[in-house]
Amino acid sequence: MKTYAIALLPGDGVGPEVTAVARDVLREVGDRFRHRFEFRTELIGGAAIDTFGDPLPPQTLEACRSADAVFLGAVGGPKWDGAPPRPEQGLLGLRKALGLFANVRPTRVYSDLIDRSPLRREIVEDVDLVIFRELTGGAYFGERKRGPTFASDECLYTTGEIERIGHAAFAAARARRGKVTSVDKANVLETSRLWREVITKLHERHYRDVQLEHALVDSMAMQLIRQPRAYDVILTENMFGDILSDEASVLGGSIGLSPSASLGATGPGLFEPVHGSAPDIAGKDRCNPIGGILSAALLLRYGLRLHHEADAVEVAVEAVIRSGERTADLGGQLGCRAMGEAIIDELHSADLPRAHHVQMHWG
Ligand code: NAD
Repeated sequence: MKTYAIALLPGDGVGPEVTAVARDVLREVGDRFRHRFEFRTELIGGAAIDTFGDPLPPQTLEACRSADAVFLGAVGGPKWDGAPPRPEQGLLGLRKALGLFANVRPTRVYSDLIDRSPLRREIVEDVDLVIFRELTGGAYFGERKRGPTFASDECLYTTGEIERIGHAAFAAARARRGKVTSVDKANVLETSRLWREVITKLHERHYRDVQLEHALVDSMAMQLIRQPRAYDVILTENMFGDILSDEASVLGGSIGLSPSASLGATGPGLFEPVHGSAPDIAGKDRCNPIGGILSAALLLRYGLRLHHEADAVEVAVEAVIRSGERTADLGGQLGCRAMGEAIIDELHSADLPRAHHVQMHWG
């Protein structure tokens, strides 16, 4: 029996509620598939400021560095909105310390939840796409300048930064439907022209079995609403990815459904629901744990390479949605805990999905 070390960072607001459910889902996966998950829980964000005056205490960082994967609930809340340090510094510091360069955000539209989507059924039915956003370069990290009447943000990308996220996106497409849409603004920006050249070369050298298309970001913003079904893996730089991933996340109908992963070249990845700490519903057992549970599935798939186990979690979530169980954000009555238990029961009793033997690698 293999043992995996998982660092759990519940954080603030609804973070502890979704983390507890995600941990129990992983325990059930361990029982069914004969893996041992060893959990170590540490403070981050506002909770860590309250105890240590530091949103990312050294022992939290040490626990993450020595883990096989990190699961995070959420950080932040009005209590810490005043003077620094701010809870978000904990999350940003952790991403940097772990060298995470790829933010992965899947969006699925479940046919049983189509009436929750802001778009019409015929547009969103069967949407199943994933955005790979580069996390370390671009305008968010370039040199900033400010004068009395001007400001500038340098946008810088290196070949190496583009190649490593390209490898991650092509490898993921190979394990999915085999298509990558690389998004840039190559008709205007030099960084985008480099992006396009590097991705095209990478494709020719290593991934000819994957279909590659290029799209301009302005057109992509439109097509993501007009024909989201056309996409499998969307690959893009930091700022375009920030914007497009928020746009994509509304297709499914509730922010409580969306998972995310942040991956590095080596070392543990960070897995967290897309939503924040939801202070308005924290502590009331009202939040939807599915974004957290699907983040646990990403932890299995991308963090531990346990694809069969990840499939089982995703299939259990889909089955429970199909059975009509709903939390309040989807118009139902179920609490966070009860929704988690329904999914764990399903995982416990369902026939296991067939394994697919796809090797993932990040190059
Ligand atoms: P939010 O995602 O916390 O909440 C937005 C709305 O969605 C709220 O009405 C909330 O009740 C609802 N919601 C969120 N998650 C839900 C779930 N699982 N189930 C049901 N409903 C859910 O965003 P916000 O209100 O802008 O931010 C609140 C705090 O969270 C802020 O302090 C912000 O900085 C922080 N934040 C943290 C992260 C993170 O930890 N990664 C991300 C975004 C925001």
